[in-house]
Amino acid sequence: MTGIKSICVYCGSQPGINEAYLRAAEDLGRFMAKAGIGLVYGGGANGLMGKLSESVMNNGGAVTGIIPQFLVDKESAETALSSLTHAIITQDMHTRKHEMFQRADAFIALPGGLGTLEEITEVMTWAQIGRHQKPIAFANIEGFWNPLLKNLDHMRQEGFIHTQGRVRPIVEEDPERLVAEIIAQAPNGEGDTSIIDRM
Ligand code: AMP
Repeated sequence: MTGIKSICVYCGSQPGINEAYLRAAEDLGRFMAKAGIGLVYGGGANGLMGKLSESVMNNGGAVTGIIPQFLVDKESAETALSSLTHAIITQDMHTRKHEMFQRADAFIALPGGLGTLEEITEVMTWAQIGRHQKPIAFANIEGFWNPLLKNLDHMRQEGFIHTQGRVRPIVEEDPERLVAEIIAQAPNGEGDTSIIDRM
């Protein structure tokens, strides 16, 4: 039994122009469902987000969609949300991102746009400053993330990425291997490795 019970997947609310992206979203959803790993995502019904959640649900998996009220009609609809295993409507983006972070044991970025970039970058920055040790992975479909990975290498070489060991994202193109690598990276077989917050 894996310690990874749920994975938060960040991905485009658009389908992108390469059909490989939609195929990867579908495959990833299927492998997650088969591995008994629930999906946490932004609740969208379109693009890669919609394809991914549909695939998890169609393969018998559990989906938690987390979306702020002001995006409900833009990225989904109440009827689409009610078909998910669990839908959470938040007051704002900040609460959405926090809930997505809390409810996931690992993070994957499929191809996407600015929202996807912002979300995966944030979980990497939180890892860098020691707020969590949850696995982070780039689903590098047909090299989609290569420019960003090159940029990360550049920042590392120029001495701007510190605490080296903490920001070592998994980079993998094949969705099945990606899920397997995340399971293998879960520390001590425990999914929830977040550091206790004292506020
Ligand atoms: P995109 O990759 O731009 O298609 O967006 C993917 C998801 O990220 C969508 O659900 C957006 O609502 C969400 N998103 C957009 N902007 C942000 C942001 N600044 N912070 C967090 N999520 C965002």
